[in-house]
Amino acid sequence: MRQKIVAGNWKMNGSKESIVSLVSGLLKMKDSNSEVVIAPSFPYLSQVCDLVDASSLVLAAQNISHEVKGAYTGEVSASMLGDFGVKYVLLGHSERRSIYGETDAIVASKVKTALEFRLTPMLCIGETLEERQSNQTLAVCERQLQAVIALVGIESFEKMVVAYEPVWAIGTGLSASAEQAQEVHESIRAFLAKSSESVSQKVQILYGGSVKASTSSALFQMPDVDGALVGGASLDAEEFIAIIKAA
Ligand code: PGA
Repeated sequence: MRQKIVAGNWKMNGSKESIVSLVSGLLKMKDSNSEVVIAPSFPYLSQVCDLVDASSLVLAAQNISHEVKGAYTGEVSASMLGDFGVKYVLLGHSERRSIYGETDAIVASKVKTALEFRLTPMLCIGETLEERQSNQTLAVCERQLQAVIALVGIESFEKMVVAYEPVWAIGTGLSASAEQAQEVHESIRAFLAKSSESVSQKVQILYGGSVKASTSSALFQMPDVDGALVGGASLDAEEFIAIIKAA
């Protein structure tokens, strides 16, 4: 059985003050069956690391440099994140791909660096609306996965999480239906199975894109949906806890 993961991507939001109240709200939650992950912006990782302390909340970062160290002004390395107890790193998020020009090759090289430093990549993949309308959904997801498989090998997916995030659903309020998500998740697993059946059965595939408490229980009932990557709704402790409880 694959354990469910519910991850909150805070994106470029928050302040010292708002983070204290958000994390203390989350800490009121009793134990959950899922792994609960939060991804603050870099400056707040240290603060959140102290706040979550001995709780079961797990830390993620939103990005890393594909370089290991040195003269890369403004970049943050995988080993630095390890210093702050970070377990996961979001890679290939559509905002990184579309706004910051991260290509499949850059994403793959970041995955490689993350793995070298024992961070668990949450590899985000997904199609735009235009691509969905022209029946390119699977071709896009497969291309994005294949770039990573080609560089780090299928076995590495045992140490990774995949997040299917259709771009048209991110921040739009237009979530994919549970059935639409299941259809793509099943195909992603089938694609991975072509390289390794056992890896495909182990890898957790999260859904992301306008996940809310009201839509999450239907999603989590789908056999190939192993959790959620939540943006906007993860900034509200009560809403996020309701999603965690649905998992
Ligand atoms: P959203 O963001 O839940 O606000 O749509 C999801 C994501 O970008 O990971």
